[in-house]
Amino acid sequence: MSDCLFCKIAKGDIPSKKLYEDDKVLAFHDIDPQAPVHFLVIPKEHYQHAGKVPAQNGEIFAHIFGVIAKLADELGMDKGYRVVTNIGEQGGQTVHHLHFHVLSGRDMTWPPG
Ligand code: AMP
Ligand code: ZN
Repeated sequence: MSDCLFCKIAKGDIPSKKLYEDDKVLAFHDIDPQAPVHFLVIPKEHYQHAGKVPAQNGEIFAHIFGVIAKLADELGMDKGYRVVTNIGEQGGQTVHHLHFHVLSGRDMTWPPG
């Protein structure tokens, strides 16, 4: 997807504040943090959102949650954190490349807005 912001970040064409990278995923700080810790984890492969990952590619979800758990340990997020993925217009998705928000460092509220 040549016009996709997160594809460009995944390729390194647009800079990001990287926390973790391997051949399949990238984690980087959100440019507009909504909590003291707010980073995004994306697959390098383009999927529009979590509902568009073919079943045969589903291992990417396990991999992403493994990366999230590793970063949570490394960043000392032992009091807890929230993982969010927004889908579509009503879900509040603004960047149409699958990404998981990871938020920590403050009490979260429920229900979300
Ligand atoms: P969503 O609204 O769920 O699609 O989330 C998109 C997120 O991407 C928002 O939290 C934005 O602040 C974040 N974002 C947009 N552009 C950048 C960028 N260049 N670097 C890091 N985060 C970004
Ligand atoms: Zn993309």
